[in-house]
Amino acid sequence: MKRVRTIAAIALAALLGAALPILVVVYFTWSRSQDADQQRLHQTAERTLQRANRAYEAGLLALRKLNQAPVSGCSPEHLRLMRGLALTTHSAEQVGYFEDGRLRCTSWGMTEDLIPEPTPDHVTADGATLTLGVRPVAGDNASLLALQLGRHDILMDPNRFVDVITDPNVRLAVATPDGRLIAQQALPDQDLLQHLLREPHSGSTARTLYATAQDQEWLAIAVAPRTSLLTSFRQNALRLLPLGVVGAVMAIAAAVWLSRRRLSLRNELASAVRRREFRMDYQPIIELDTGICVGAEALVRWSRADGTQVRPDLFIPVAEETGLIEALTDHVMDLVLNDMRELLIHDRSAHIAINLSAGDVSSGRALKVLSGKLIGTGIHPQQIWLEATERGFLDIQGARTSLAAARRAGHCVAIDDFGVGYSSLQYLQQLPLDALKIDKSFIDSIGTHSATSPVTSHIIDMAKTLGLFTVAEGIETSAQLAYLQSRQVEFGQGWLFSRPLPAPEFIAYHEQRRRQYGKAPEDMRNPNSIEE
Ligand code: C2E
Ligand code: CA
Ligand code: CA
Repeated sequence: MKRVRTIAAIALAALLGAALPILVVVYFTWSRSQDADQQRLHQTAERTLQRANRAYEAGLLALRKLNQAPVSGCSPEHLRLMRGLALTTHSAEQVGYFEDGRLRCTSWGMTEDLIPEPTPDHVTADGATLTLGVRPVAGDNASLLALQLGRHDILMDPNRFVDVITDPNVRLAVATPDGRLIAQQALPDQDLLQHLLREPHSGSTARTLYATAQDQEWLAIAVAPRTSLLTSFRQNALRLLPLGVVGAVMAIAAAVWLSRRRLSLRNELASAVRRREFRMDYQPIIELDTGICVGAEALVRWSRADGTQVRPDLFIPVAEETGLIEALTDHVMDLVLNDMRELLIHDRSAHIAINLSAGDVSSGRALKVLSGKLIGTGIHPQQIWLEATERGFLDIQGARTSLAAARRAGHCVAIDDFGVGYSSLQYLQQLPLDALKIDKSFIDSIGTHSATSPVTSHIIDMAKTLGLFTVAEGIETSAQLAYLQSRQVEFGQGWLFSRPLPAPEFIAYHEQRRRQYGKAPEDMRNPNSIEE
C-alpha cells in the first residue's frame, strides 16, 4: 500500500516537474511576444506621428510661401502660384484664397459660388486653423481637411496623415492633441478609439493591443488585433518549446532517479534488517563534575555489503516510513544487550541510552519487547535509559502512558533533541521525564552571539525548575565544557571527550576513564580530542 502511495506521489511529482518548465516557457513566450508586439505597435504610432507632422509641415510651408509672395487678389500671377503649389505640395488637393470672408479663387481658378470662410475646428500651435469635412470646389466629392493660415488655405486628403506602411492588421488614426479625430483607417473598435481620444495611453484588451504617441500638434493611435500576437507567440513558442521539453525531460529523469534511489534504499534496508547487517557504536557520556564515564549513547551503524556507510539520519526516517523501524529497534536492543551485558553487570552505576523512534514511543511496543529481552540477562532496567524525541509526543496520550510504564519498570527517560521542535515546554510539563538532552545546536551557540545563545541558558534553567537533569550533546570545545560546568549541567557527550566508538573500544575507554577520574578529577579532556 505504502509502495503504491509512494509511486503515485512520485508520478505526481514527475508530472508537476514536467509541467512546470513547459508552463514557464509558455508564460515567458507569451509575455515576450506581447512585449515585442506592444513595442512594435508603439514604433508604428511614432512613425504615424512623424507622417502626420510631415504632411502638416508641407502644407504649412506652402501656406507661408503664398502669404509672403508679392502677388495677391487672384491676379493671374497669384493664380499661377497657387496652382504651382497645389501641384508640388504632396498632400494638397486644392489651394484657396479668401477675401472679405468669402472664397475668391482657388488653384482651379475664380469661384463663382459664394463660399463663406469656414469656422475652424482647431487652431494649431503655429496659429494655423484646421477645418474638418470640407468639400473642394472641383474634383470628386471627398471630404477634405482645410489648413488655413492668413488668407490662404490648403485642402488636404486626411488619409495622407495616416499614410504609413505597416502590418495590414494594424489600424491607425491621427487626431489633434485635444482629441479631435483627423483621420482613421476604419478602426474595428470605435469605443476603444473614443476612449483613446479622451485618454491617450498604451495597453491591451482581451482582443486588441493598442499604443499611442503624441507631440504638441498631433496624437497618433495604432491598434492591432491579438491574432497577430498569437502568430508571433506561435513562432516564439516553437523556438522556445524544445527548451521546455528538455527541462521537462530532465525533471522527470531527476524524479525517477530520486525515486529509484529511495525505493532501492528501502529495498536494501529491508534486506539489511532481515539479514541483521547493523552494529552499534557507543558515544561515552561523561559526568561533567567528575569526568567519570557514566555510560554511553548507543548509535546504530549500517555498513553496506560494499563497505559504504549509510548515515542513521538518512535510513532511520526511511525505516520509520516503511515500518521497518520496529524490527530495527528490536535488533538494536539485541545488539546493545549483547555488547554491553558484561560491562553493565560489572559496573552497576553505568548505563546505556537507546534511541527510540516516534512509533516506538507512542505505541509502547518497544518497552514491552525490551522488558522481555532484559529477563535473564542480569542487566538492571535502571541501566537502560531511553531517549525519545518530540516527534514521538504527537500522540501525547500514548506517549504519556508508555513513558510512565517505562519509568515504572525502572528505566530513566530523556527527551532528545530538546528545543529543535516547537511546543517543547508544553511536552516537558505534561510528560513523565527524568532527563533533558540539550541539542547540539544550542551547545554550538555557547560563547557566540547567535540568536540561540541566550536560549541555552533558559533551557538549563527550565530543566532545573522541572527537576530534570540535563545531558549536553555535541560538546566540542573546552569553552563549551567550562560554561556547562559553571551552569551545573550534570552530563555531557561530544567529540571533546570521544567520538562514538565500537563496543570493544568503548569498553576500554570506560575502564581507562574510571581509573583516571575514579578518584580525583583533574583534566577531563580526551587526549585524542579534536580540539587544537
Ligand atoms: P542523536 O540521537 O541526536 O545522536 C547524536 C548525534 O550527534 C550522533 O549522530 C552523534 O554521532 C553526533 N555527535 C555526537 N557528538 C558530536 C559532536 O561533538 N560533534 C558532532 N558534529 N556530532 C556529534 P549519528 O550517530 O549520526 O546519529 C544521528 C541520529 O540518528 C541520532 O541523533 C538519532 O536521532 C538517530 N539514531 C542513531 N541511532 C539510532 C537508533 O538506534 N535508533 C533510532 N531510532 N535512532 C537512531
Ligand atoms: Ca539521541
Ligand atoms: Ca540528539
